[in-house]
Amino acid sequence: MIACRICGSHIAEAAYEASAPALTTTMAFVDIPTLAFVCDECGHAQSGDLPDIATFYDTSYQISMESEDHDQIFSVDANNQPIYRTDHQAAVSLHLLDLSQGAAILDYGAAKSTTLRKMYNARPDLRPHVFDVSADYRPAWQGWVAAEDQASYTVPAEWAGRFQAIMSHFVIEHVSEPVAFLKVLHDLLAPEGRLLLSMPDVVANPGDMAVADHLNHFSIPSLRRAFSLAGFTVDMIDREIFPGAFFVVAKHADDSVPVIEDRAEIATATEKAREICAFWKQAAIRLDEAAKEFAGRRAAIYGSGFYGSWICSRIESDVDLGVFLDQNPNLQGTKHFGKPVIAPANLAEDIDVVFVGLNPLKARAAIAQQPSLHRPELNLVWIDG
Ligand SMILES: [Zn+2]
Repeated sequence: MIACRICGSHIAEAAYEASAPALTTTMAFVDIPTLAFVCDECGHAQSGDLPDIATFYDTSYQISMESEDHDQIFSVDANNQPIYRTDHQAAVSLHLLDLSQGAAILDYGAAKSTTLRKMYNARPDLRPHVFDVSADYRPAWQGWVAAEDQASYTVPAEWAGRFQAIMSHFVIEHVSEPVAFLKVLHDLLAPEGRLLLSMPDVVANPGDMAVADHLNHFSIPSLRRAFSLAGFTVDMIDREIFPGAFFVVAKHADDSVPVIEDRAEIATATEKAREICAFWKQAAIRLDEAAKEFAGRRAAIYGSGFYGSWICSRIESDVDLGVFLDQNPNLQGTKHFGKPVIAPANLAEDIDVVFVGLNPLKARAAIAQQPSLHRPELNLVWIDG
């Protein structure tokens, strides 16, 4: 039995359980089982704890450290040009925070803080501050954030109440105590200060439920509950502006904020979360069967992200895995788990089976656009049946 990370209710049993190892967002394997729990009281879903979480983020968790230009592509525009995650995040953040002239803004859990740097380029009147639980990113902050406006490991006491705005992109899903995390941000904000938070939306990307280092899988009711408990009024929760994510804007309140419970909304959220857990159970069974069916055959995996990596871990001892296929030009020419990553168009003729490792909500549309995968004798394995 465990406690909900938002409302503290007891959750009797896991809604999804898979044996070790578990896979992280950085495609590292951790020697723990994958567990997902769903809270009927507030509609939150959560994973089991990670061992030694502080050390994990200090030393082994580095996003986009390899090069200045390595950035995640999250979409393509109308002209088929890649749209980079931080460009979109910067534009959306400037729009949603509606910052006043000269505003002090903090990027909390900043990593390299590419998003805030891009915002500062567009708005040089802002006073940027950065904080992270690792010192690895400090070189990326030099030259544009004043030394006294940078902090690692602990936030300076004199920052309390300083900020007109705080943003924290894709951080809270990693935090074991999200309400306490929000309270820290609350205390850093000036009265009437605004907070912008982003996090994955597991309904839009069910893979999130099985990621070991995403401890929280928020729903709209569990987000509302968390913000109320931490002393915020929620201005908006958006799940369209950034595909696969929630963007939330909240305002610092001085008095306690009542929790509004919408039981129907909570029931819908828990039902959806349990559906996703059931999907993962089925996907694991399906892949184990496919691995046996195609044992010894020449195979490729489409997608070298989370889904593709997870598939690899389940099939590589059975099939003859040759390559990963990936549309992302930054990944083509690299290796993933020792296998070459190539463009889908370059798939060799002697491959018998392709395992599709993409978000199942988008997989069929993506594969439909790849003529090289439409050979009649080529087998395609989908994780959702
Ligand atoms: Zn709960």
